[in-house]
Amino acid sequence: MKTVTRSTCCYCGVGCGVLIEAEHGRITGIAGDPDHPANFGRLCTKGRTLPLTVADHAGRALRPELRLTRDAVREPADWTVALDHVAARFADIIERDGPDAVAFYISGQLLTEDYYVFNKLAKGLIRTNNIDTNSRLCMSSAVSAYKKALGADGPPTCYEDLELAQTVLFAGSNMPYAHPVLFRRLEEAKARDPSIKWIVVDPRRTDLAALADLHLAITPGTDVALFNGMLHHMIWEGSIDPAYIAAHTSGFNELKSLVRGYTPSMAAEICGIAESDLLVAAQWFAASPAALSLYCMGLNQSSHGTDKNLALINLHLATGQIGKPGAGPFSLTGQPNAMGGREVGGMATMLAAHRDIANAEHRAQVEALWGVNGLSARPGLPAVDMFDALAEGKIKAVWIACTNPVHSMPDIERVRRALRTAEFVVVQEAFEQTDTVPYADVLLPAASWGEKSGTVTNSERRISRVRAAVEPPGEARADWWIVNEVARRLEARLSARQSEEAPNTHNDAGLFPFESPQAVFDEHRSLTIGRDLDIGALSYDVLERDGPQQWPFPAGRERGAARRYVDGTFATADGRARFHAPSYLPVAESVDARYPFRLLTGRLRDQWHGMSRTGRAGVLFNHAPQATLSMRREDAARRGLKEGELVTIASRRGRLVLPLETSDDLAPGTVFAAMHWSGQFLASGGINETTIGAVDPDSKQPELKHAAVRIEPAKLP
Ligand code: SF4
Repeated sequence: MKTVTRSTCCYCGVGCGVLIEAEHGRITGIAGDPDHPANFGRLCTKGRTLPLTVADHAGRALRPELRLTRDAVREPADWTVALDHVAARFADIIERDGPDAVAFYISGQLLTEDYYVFNKLAKGLIRTNNIDTNSRLCMSSAVSAYKKALGADGPPTCYEDLELAQTVLFAGSNMPYAHPVLFRRLEEAKARDPSIKWIVVDPRRTDLAALADLHLAITPGTDVALFNGMLHHMIWEGSIDPAYIAAHTSGFNELKSLVRGYTPSMAAEICGIAESDLLVAAQWFAASPAALSLYCMGLNQSSHGTDKNLALINLHLATGQIGKPGAGPFSLTGQPNAMGGREVGGMATMLAAHRDIANAEHRAQVEALWGVNGLSARPGLPAVDMFDALAEGKIKAVWIACTNPVHSMPDIERVRRALRTAEFVVVQEAFEQTDTVPYADVLLPAASWGEKSGTVTNSERRISRVRAAVEPPGEARADWWIVNEVARRLEARLSARQSEEAPNTHNDAGLFPFESPQAVFDEHRSLTIGRDLDIGALSYDVLERDGPQQWPFPAGRERGAARRYVDGTFATADGRARFHAPSYLPVAESVDARYPFRLLTGRLRDQWHGMSRTGRAGVLFNHAPQATLSMRREDAARRGLKEGELVTIASRRGRLVLPLETSDDLAPGTVFAAMHWSGQFLASGGINETTIGAVDPDSKQPELKHAAVRIEPAKLP
């Protein structure tokens, strides 16, 4: 019998609603959900082709596997043996070396319920904060800046603002590729009202930049100088909003002193753009009835990502372009549930419901809510530091779920070294052949899209249901179930020791009484009450009845809030937003005579991350059939390099070989490669063989977008 199941696309942070068609236990088709407020029935090429990626279960991990020694081959095992083994090895290591000897590296692809159980296992039971996620590579600079400037994480805006903005500033975002369905809403708004201005800040002439009213092709990494220069001009011209600044903010005088030094001519020179263009951007932004900024990896994946975000938020606060329809700083999340992971505190620096590990009061609140004592105040290790600690032997065991760090982390050889050194590696994964799976001592087969249930939160803080349309293949199981089963086993082993050190107060059912994703969601919801993301009034029943809802959604409300800070009261202690005064600092790695090219990385329209899923749909290679290195035509000619020739891209960390593609869309001295292809697809590895592990000091997000490289003809054997 044919069934239709309402669910959510598993790719990007737009969070489109889908209707999954299934027959005889197989997914046979897909349509956009006409009632979902993110997409109103639309899907992009990736969403439309989802059934092709699951049609025959090819490449799926179908049963648990384990090996007892490093040089052995993994053998199939039944679930009980695999779960017992993982729990026993983790318990042994924790008892021998302490809780911080283990770590979890999870994913913005997981559902909120999966994330919650992982986080409770690490922080509530084991009492380590060594749990981080690939969202560290994606959104953590935006999180840092929102917290510093506005007092809490999460965008103040909503998707409706895309249709109401009169000026749109895109910064480090190629939205037609990365968030295609949302971009269609912007296109339609501009078609209705051609007076809407689009300003695109991007070193490359992307497809989006080609459509812009003003393209600011800045030198990579100079965003802070640009935004400070724009603010200098706004102050000089009197186009800021002194009444808003006086009523709702603090710290403006320090910022004003700083930006006095960023004259438009000096800022434009740093950025490598015309001063007149910088002035036009400042005028369009400040004079607009509604200015919206849309930003993504181009700001975040930087060793100064937090400063870039803060400098952009300064523009909104100084002009009062926030908390009103069509205006605000809108960070677009890359992954489908980067937001949900932040909500449950599934990162090394956070606790549940936007609480902070460093805050004793927050720790006490979570202890009371979980019925535990002795939550660790020791900071956890964020992604790059976590793998370094593995390589140094400080962390002995790591559990990796739903992500492929041997493709997505910077300086991949560092990650390989870490996983070779680790005493025990667990990989929980839907696919059996990612770049990371060969390092697994235990492979736990996970259910995938269309096979599991829970919730995700999209870029506008909207929580949607994810529903299973079919059973998982083979013995694959839902992520939350796998973690819950190991946690129960580990709890039995660790609780005796813990009750001597710091007795727990939770009831006899233990910390992991969950029998369904709904039970996990209900506990998560209870922890949010009274917090900025309060979803006390939201339940699976409400989502079933009323459809996807935005947070905050506290008790007494009938719907979630579309916008935040509409009355000018922010989430800081005094209710005022904070200006910060960031200075421009250059990229972590400058070009020099040995490495004279600036490497930029980015995404393609029809691929997703490491292509574990999109790589299974042949039609998705029509747009870009192969990995290439793009180089400006004149740069290639000067070096005698020809279109299609194989070239070696080498940095101080590693190298790979790609065919050359010449382009007129890059600045001189700049090259570009997509981040999707990895060692799974290319013999010489992916572009992250060359990228740098330098991180932002606040957010710990690495500078995946920029590295110094040399390009030379490949020497083939
Ligand atoms: Fe899926 Fe994003 Fe495309 Fe929507 S825009 S269909 S969420 S990939």
